[in-house]
Amino acid sequence: MCGIVGYLGEKKATDVILAGLEKLEYRGYDSCGIFFHVEKTNDFITYKDKGRISHLINDFNYKFDNHLGIGHTRWATHGKPNRENSHPHFSFSTRFAIVHNGVIENYRELTAKYIPDVEFASETDTEVIVNLIEHFATELSIEEAIRKTLSLIEGSYALLIVDKQNSNAMYAAKNKSPLLIGIAPNGITLASDVMALVEHAETYIPIEDKTFVSVFASDDKFEYAMVDIIGVPVIPKPLKMDIVLEDIGKGGYSHYMLKEICEQPSVVRKIMDKYLVNGNTVIPDAIVKLFQNTNRIYIVAAGTSMHAGYVGKYYFEHVSMIPTEVFIASEFAYNQPLIVDNPLFVFISQSGETADLRACLLRVKELGHKTITITNVPTSTLAREADHFLEIFAGPEIAVASTKAYVGQVTILALLAYIVAKRKPFDLHLELSKVAIAMDAVIDNREYIDNLVKDKLTKRNCFYIGRGLDYYTCLEAALKLKEISYIQTEGFAAGELKHGTIALIEDGIPVIAIISQAHIANNTRANIREVMARGAEVIVIALTAVSDLTDDIVLMDVNEMLTPLVTVIPTQLIAYYSALHLGKDIDKPRNLAKSVTVE
Ligand code: GLU
Repeated sequence: MCGIVGYLGEKKATDVILAGLEKLEYRGYDSCGIFFHVEKTNDFITYKDKGRISHLINDFNYKFDNHLGIGHTRWATHGKPNRENSHPHFSFSTRFAIVHNGVIENYRELTAKYIPDVEFASETDTEVIVNLIEHFATELSIEEAIRKTLSLIEGSYALLIVDKQNSNAMYAAKNKSPLLIGIAPNGITLASDVMALVEHAETYIPIEDKTFVSVFASDDKFEYAMVDIIGVPVIPKPLKMDIVLEDIGKGGYSHYMLKEICEQPSVVRKIMDKYLVNGNTVIPDAIVKLFQNTNRIYIVAAGTSMHAGYVGKYYFEHVSMIPTEVFIASEFAYNQPLIVDNPLFVFISQSGETADLRACLLRVKELGHKTITITNVPTSTLAREADHFLEIFAGPEIAVASTKAYVGQVTILALLAYIVAKRKPFDLHLELSKVAIAMDAVIDNREYIDNLVKDKLTKRNCFYIGRGLDYYTCLEAALKLKEISYIQTEGFAAGELKHGTIALIEDGIPVIAIISQAHIANNTRANIREVMARGAEVIVIALTAVSDLTDDIVLMDVNEMLTPLVTVIPTQLIAYYSALHLGKDIDKPRNLAKSVTVE
């Protein structure tokens, strides 16, 4: 959600920042801004407004040499997306500039207590930070003033600060919102996501919470220092930058989402390579034991990851015989269920930065329970803070609507459930290989799905129905369609529709049914007849073994447990092509953010 980039170095700062902000676009935002120092005139320039980064790039002039700057994409939490509320914001004398991601919870109290007479130029919570810094800087050094401010503010922040009196320095701090520092001999970059650092850093450090960073240029050297809020030095070990730039590009596809859908068979194969070596699983013993010894698994997740969690529950209960519950993270944080003795908490998050999950993780750790995170980002906060983590190896996922990360999560959950099971019900390596082939087959025939949905999904509403594992896929399929096409879509347990919601079925309303499990195929078909009798326009997705001649999308058979990995693919393509025909902004749907870093 939103992003920041800052640079101090030999390269042109505005180039680094604008390219970096573009890489962070996928996170979702409504406004953007940039602030930089022009060497020749010793001036500072600000451009900011509501709207896309393309305006920032096309409408302004960056011809002068500049080596220090900060940039921001805003996802409004306090005040409308408009120019006044866009970042950077300035302190009362305009000496200090700030960009900030996150939410300051006590900004009203702090304003009233310390700076009641300062007139704010925006409606944001952010302005209090920069004004407090200037307020304290009248008596303290800059660093002390910033640390004092940090000790007072409560909430989440990743922030960058520039003092107009020193164009050779930049300051940063973070709590809960992500922030990384990229290090190279010719410059220091700071950004919310490693993707904005790849081209400019040899090593990088994910900054820990409540850490304050100062970046300096002197004698053509660029250096940084990290301390905690009290001022005690923090000395982390930089990680080698080993991300491949091509993984971040669109690679010839029209959208990241389509590229990522097409990458899914390789995600399954990659997970097999990483975790199933020569027929043996290489998940650390400590993790396997946690599962073997627990009385109950509590899966905590949100959105698409929660749908993966439901499939995981099915796996843990049917394959490993461990009772499992799934919780919506934002509910669990403040409304905890009764927890059994010896629980195991599994957090599932694509980005590893989901604020709702972090709130739960901290609470669960306080209670002394065991935790494990399943994520696509091994350097993320949730990966670092849980007792253990498992990486899903899906590679960077840029489209806001998650596809390959979901498939990665489900694959890992299948793998875990299988490893933990006392009795192995099948050869997982063999069955996952068949899954990857079945996925390839759908993807290779995607034009067929394009044609199928062309004139069909144009109504305001749509329904997905299915039973058992297919019900979980319906939830995910419905979310995907509504996220990017804005068609109001609900996923329903097929048998539940007639208990109320069938009232919404009328002539031409699309109902998409998924059938993959033999023991419930006839029941779902009965539900299909019920909606057809009321005028629904039905599309049936079925595995070959349970298919009828009239079915619209017939998939290759795979092991019954693993069907969600295959049935989800046509639903992602349905969402993609529907949104394409409706002319929607597929990779950056309105109001959404890739990594939801506010609670
Ligand atoms: N709370 C700040 C605002 O509303 C920052 C939002 C963000 O994270 O982009 O401006």
